[in-house]
Amino acid sequence: MKTSEKNSNEKKISILINEIIDMGVSDKKILHAIKKVPRDLFVRKENLNEAYENYPLPIGFGQTISQPYTVAFMIEQLELKQGEKVLEIGTGSGYNASIMAKIVEPNGKILSVEILSDLIEFAKQNLKKAGIKNVHVIHGDGSVGYSDEAPYDKIIVTAGCPEIPNPIIEQLKEEGIIVAPVESLFGQEMIKLIKHKDSLAIKKLGNFSFVPLKGKKGYR
Ligand code: SAM
Repeated sequence: MKTSEKNSNEKKISILINEIIDMGVSDKKILHAIKKVPRDLFVRKENLNEAYENYPLPIGFGQTISQPYTVAFMIEQLELKQGEKVLEIGTGSGYNASIMAKIVEPNGKILSVEILSDLIEFAKQNLKKAGIKNVHVIHGDGSVGYSDEAPYDKIIVTAGCPEIPNPIIEQLKEEGIIVAPVESLFGQEMIKLIKHKDSLAIKKLGNFSFVPLKGKKGYR
Protein backbone atom coordinates (compact mmCIF):
# COMPACT_ATOMS: atom_id res chain seq x y z
CA MET A 1 0.00 0.00 0.00
CA LYS A 2 1.29 3.52 -0.90
CA THR A 3 2.13 5.88 2.00
CA SER A 4 -0.59 8.33 0.89
CA GLU A 5 -3.22 5.52 0.93
CA LYS A 6 -2.02 4.37 4.36
CA ASN A 7 -2.27 7.91 5.77
CA SER A 8 -5.71 8.37 4.29
CA ASN A 9 -6.94 5.05 5.82
CA GLU A 10 -5.46 6.00 9.21
CA LYS A 11 -7.39 9.28 9.08
CA LYS A 12 -10.62 7.46 8.16
CA ILE A 13 -10.12 4.91 10.98
CA SER A 14 -9.61 7.68 13.50
CA ILE A 15 -12.84 9.42 12.35
CA LEU A 16 -14.69 6.08 12.55
CA ILE A 17 -13.40 5.39 16.06
CA ASN A 18 -14.49 8.84 17.25
CA GLU A 19 -17.94 8.18 15.80
CA ILE A 20 -18.16 4.83 17.63
CA ILE A 21 -17.11 6.54 20.90
CA ASP A 22 -19.77 9.24 20.35
CA MET A 23 -22.36 6.48 19.93
CA GLY A 24 -21.49 5.17 23.41
CA VAL A 25 -18.82 2.46 23.11
CA SER A 26 -15.94 3.10 25.51
CA ASP A 27 -14.06 -0.21 25.93
CA LYS A 28 -10.46 0.63 25.01
CA LYS A 29 -9.63 -2.98 24.04
CA ILE A 30 -12.35 -2.86 21.36
CA LEU A 31 -11.35 0.57 20.06
CA HIS A 32 -7.72 -0.58 19.89
CA ALA A 33 -8.71 -3.72 17.96
CA ILE A 34 -10.70 -1.62 15.47
CA LYS A 35 -7.59 0.47 14.94
CA LYS A 36 -5.42 -2.62 14.43
CA VAL A 37 -7.64 -4.74 12.12
CA PRO A 38 -7.88 -3.15 8.65
CA ARG A 39 -11.57 -3.36 7.62
CA ASP A 40 -10.50 -2.74 4.02
CA LEU A 41 -9.17 -6.33 3.95
CA PHE A 42 -12.69 -7.66 4.70
CA VAL A 43 -14.77 -5.86 2.06
CA ARG A 44 -15.18 -6.49 -1.66
CA LYS A 45 -12.99 -4.54 -4.12
CA GLU A 46 -15.96 -2.48 -5.32
CA ASN A 47 -16.58 -1.22 -1.75
CA LEU A 48 -12.97 -0.40 -0.87
CA ASN A 49 -13.58 3.35 -0.74
CA GLU A 50 -16.38 2.74 1.81
CA ALA A 51 -14.42 0.35 4.05
CA TYR A 52 -14.26 2.83 6.95
CA GLU A 53 -17.79 4.17 6.69
CA ASN A 54 -20.02 3.44 9.66
CA TYR A 55 -22.54 1.29 7.82
CA PRO A 56 -22.94 -2.34 6.70
CA LEU A 57 -21.68 -3.33 3.25
CA PRO A 58 -22.67 -6.18 0.92
CA ILE A 59 -20.28 -9.16 0.80
CA GLY A 60 -22.24 -11.13 -1.83
CA PHE A 61 -24.78 -13.97 -1.63
CA GLY A 62 -27.29 -11.60 0.01
CA GLN A 63 -25.07 -11.18 3.11
CA THR A 64 -23.36 -8.21 4.76
CA ILE A 65 -20.39 -7.19 6.87
CA SER A 66 -22.07 -5.46 9.83
CA GLN A 67 -21.89 -1.75 10.67
CA PRO A 68 -18.69 -1.08 12.67
CA TYR A 69 -20.69 0.47 15.53
CA THR A 70 -22.86 -2.67 15.77
CA VAL A 71 -19.74 -4.86 15.86
CA ALA A 72 -18.26 -2.70 18.67
CA PHE A 73 -21.56 -2.56 20.60
CA MET A 74 -22.14 -6.33 20.50
CA ILE A 75 -18.57 -7.13 21.50
CA GLU A 76 -18.73 -4.64 24.39
CA GLN A 77 -21.84 -6.44 25.66
CA LEU A 78 -19.97 -9.78 25.48
CA GLU A 79 -17.45 -8.48 28.07
CA LEU A 80 -14.59 -10.38 26.39
CA LYS A 81 -11.41 -11.16 28.28
CA GLN A 82 -7.98 -12.38 27.26
CA GLY A 83 -7.82 -16.18 27.01
CA GLU A 84 -11.53 -16.79 26.41
CA LYS A 85 -13.01 -19.29 23.96
CA VAL A 86 -15.77 -17.73 21.90
CA LEU A 87 -18.31 -19.20 19.47
CA GLU A 88 -19.46 -16.92 16.65
CA ILE A 89 -22.44 -17.89 14.51
CA GLY A 90 -22.20 -16.20 11.10
CA THR A 91 -18.58 -15.70 9.98
CA GLY A 92 -19.50 -13.61 6.91
CA SER A 93 -16.35 -11.65 6.03
CA GLY A 94 -14.45 -12.68 9.18
CA TYR A 95 -14.19 -9.06 10.42
CA ASN A 96 -16.20 -9.39 13.66
CA ALA A 97 -14.29 -12.59 14.48
CA SER A 98 -10.98 -10.76 13.92
CA ILE A 99 -11.87 -7.94 16.30
CA MET A 100 -12.75 -10.52 18.98
CA ALA A 101 -9.59 -12.50 18.19
CA LYS A 102 -7.43 -9.45 18.93
CA ILE A 103 -9.06 -9.04 22.34
CA VAL A 104 -8.74 -12.68 23.48
CA GLU A 105 -5.20 -13.24 22.13
CA PRO A 106 -2.65 -14.68 22.70
CA ASN A 107 -4.21 -17.76 24.33
CA GLY A 108 -7.90 -17.25 23.53
CA LYS A 109 -9.62 -18.34 20.33
CA ILE A 110 -12.70 -17.86 18.20
CA LEU A 111 -14.63 -20.73 16.64
CA SER A 112 -16.71 -19.20 13.88
CA VAL A 113 -19.42 -21.13 12.01
CA GLU A 114 -20.65 -20.10 8.55
CA ILE A 115 -23.46 -21.87 6.70
CA LEU A 116 -22.71 -20.57 3.16
CA SER A 117 -19.87 -22.47 1.51
CA ASP A 118 -19.33 -19.53 -0.88
CA LEU A 119 -18.32 -17.29 2.05
CA ILE A 120 -15.93 -19.75 3.71
CA GLU A 121 -13.05 -19.13 1.30
CA PHE A 122 -13.70 -15.35 1.32
CA ALA A 123 -13.47 -15.27 5.14
CA LYS A 124 -10.39 -17.53 5.25
CA GLN A 125 -8.55 -15.38 2.70
CA ASN A 126 -9.45 -12.18 4.58
CA LEU A 127 -8.22 -13.61 7.91
CA LYS A 128 -4.98 -14.72 6.26
CA LYS A 129 -4.38 -11.27 4.72
CA ALA A 130 -4.97 -9.68 8.14
CA GLY A 131 -2.58 -12.14 9.81
CA ILE A 132 -5.23 -13.40 12.26
CA LYS A 133 -4.32 -16.89 13.48
CA ASN A 134 -6.69 -17.55 16.40
CA VAL A 135 -9.94 -17.72 14.39
CA HIS A 136 -11.08 -21.16 13.22
CA VAL A 137 -13.72 -21.08 10.50
CA ILE A 138 -16.11 -24.01 10.39
CA HIS A 139 -18.55 -24.76 7.57
CA GLY A 140 -21.89 -25.76 9.08
CA ASP A 141 -25.24 -24.82 10.58
CA GLY A 142 -24.40 -22.64 13.58
CA SER A 143 -28.05 -22.43 14.63
CA VAL A 144 -27.34 -25.67 16.52
CA GLY A 145 -24.03 -24.30 17.82
CA TYR A 146 -20.78 -26.23 17.49
CA SER A 147 -20.67 -28.98 20.09
CA ASP A 148 -17.14 -30.22 19.22
CA GLU A 149 -15.49 -27.37 21.18
CA ALA A 150 -18.23 -26.67 23.78
CA PRO A 151 -18.55 -25.28 26.41
CA TYR A 152 -17.81 -21.66 25.46
CA ASP A 153 -17.09 -18.63 27.64
CA LYS A 154 -19.08 -16.39 25.29
CA ILE A 155 -21.32 -16.83 22.22
CA ILE A 156 -22.25 -14.20 19.63
CA VAL A 157 -24.88 -14.59 16.90
CA THR A 158 -24.46 -12.19 13.99
CA ALA A 159 -27.72 -13.04 12.16
CA GLY A 160 -31.30 -12.35 13.26
CA CYS A 161 -32.82 -15.33 15.12
CA PRO A 162 -36.47 -16.24 15.76
CA GLU A 163 -35.37 -16.92 19.36
CA ILE A 164 -32.07 -17.73 21.07
CA PRO A 165 -31.39 -21.31 19.92
CA ASN A 166 -31.53 -23.79 22.82
CA PRO A 167 -28.43 -25.75 21.75
CA ILE A 168 -26.25 -22.66 22.12
CA ILE A 169 -27.55 -22.01 25.64
CA GLU A 170 -26.56 -25.59 26.46
CA GLN A 171 -23.09 -25.04 24.96
CA LEU A 172 -22.46 -21.94 27.11
CA LYS A 173 -20.47 -22.15 30.37
CA GLU A 174 -22.07 -21.15 33.67
CA GLU A 175 -21.84 -17.34 34.03
CA GLY A 176 -21.18 -17.16 30.28
CA ILE A 177 -22.80 -14.54 28.04
CA ILE A 178 -24.70 -14.78 24.73
CA VAL A 179 -25.34 -11.67 22.62
CA ALA A 180 -27.81 -12.14 19.77
CA PRO A 181 -30.34 -10.14 17.72
CA VAL A 182 -33.76 -11.76 18.25
CA GLU A 183 -36.98 -11.19 16.28
CA SER A 184 -39.21 -8.41 17.60
CA LEU A 185 -41.96 -6.18 16.24
CA PHE A 186 -39.36 -3.70 14.97
CA GLY A 187 -36.79 -5.91 13.23
CA GLN A 188 -34.61 -7.44 15.92
CA GLU A 189 -34.00 -6.60 19.54
CA MET A 190 -30.42 -7.12 20.73
CA ILE A 191 -30.49 -9.58 23.63
CA LYS A 192 -27.82 -10.20 26.24
CA LEU A 193 -28.28 -13.49 28.07
CA ILE A 194 -26.29 -14.45 31.16
CA LYS A 195 -26.43 -18.11 32.18
CA HIS A 196 -26.52 -18.42 35.96
CA LYS A 197 -26.49 -21.79 37.74
CA ASP A 198 -30.28 -22.06 38.04
CA SER A 199 -31.60 -19.25 35.87
CA LEU A 200 -31.10 -17.16 32.73
CA ALA A 201 -30.87 -13.36 33.02
CA ILE A 202 -32.09 -11.54 29.91
CA LYS A 203 -31.41 -7.89 29.08
CA LYS A 204 -32.93 -6.07 26.09
CA LEU A 205 -30.54 -3.63 24.44
CA GLY A 206 -32.50 -1.93 21.66
CA ASN A 207 -33.41 -2.51 18.03
CA PHE A 208 -31.08 -3.51 15.22
CA SER A 209 -31.50 -4.94 11.74
CA PHE A 210 -29.79 -8.16 10.61
CA VAL A 211 -29.98 -10.68 7.79
CA PRO A 212 -31.91 -13.79 8.95
CA LEU A 213 -30.34 -16.81 10.64
CA LYS A 214 -30.82 -19.87 8.45
CA GLY A 215 -30.73 -23.52 9.48
CA LYS A 216 -32.49 -25.93 11.84
CA LYS A 217 -33.08 -23.38 14.64
CA GLY A 218 -33.24 -20.40 12.29
CA TYR A 219 -35.68 -19.52 9.52
CA ARG A 220 -34.69 -22.68 7.51
N1 SAM B 1 -20.02 -11.48 11.36
C1 SAM B 1 -20.00 -11.18 9.96
C2 SAM B 1 -18.86 -10.29 9.57
O1 SAM B 1 -18.08 -9.86 10.44
O2 SAM B 1 -18.71 -10.03 8.37
C3 SAM B 1 -21.31 -10.63 9.45
C4 SAM B 1 -22.36 -11.63 9.50
S1 SAM B 1 -23.68 -11.46 8.34
C5 SAM B 1 -24.58 -10.13 9.02
C6 SAM B 1 -24.58 -12.93 8.80
C7 SAM B 1 -23.87 -14.21 8.42
O3 SAM B 1 -24.54 -15.30 9.05
C8 SAM B 1 -23.91 -14.51 6.93
O4 SAM B 1 -22.62 -14.74 6.45
C9 SAM B 1 -24.78 -15.75 6.84
O5 SAM B 1 -24.46 -16.60 5.77
C10 SAM B 1 -24.50 -16.39 8.17
N2 SAM B 1 -25.49 -17.38 8.63
C11 SAM B 1 -26.84 -17.33 8.53
N3 SAM B 1 -27.38 -18.42 9.10
C12 SAM B 1 -26.36 -19.17 9.59
C13 SAM B 1 -26.27 -20.40 10.29
N4 SAM B 1 -27.37 -21.12 10.61
N5 SAM B 1 -25.06 -20.87 10.63
C14 SAM B 1 -23.93 -20.17 10.31
N6 SAM B 1 -23.95 -19.00 9.65
C15 SAM B 1 -25.14 -18.50 9.29
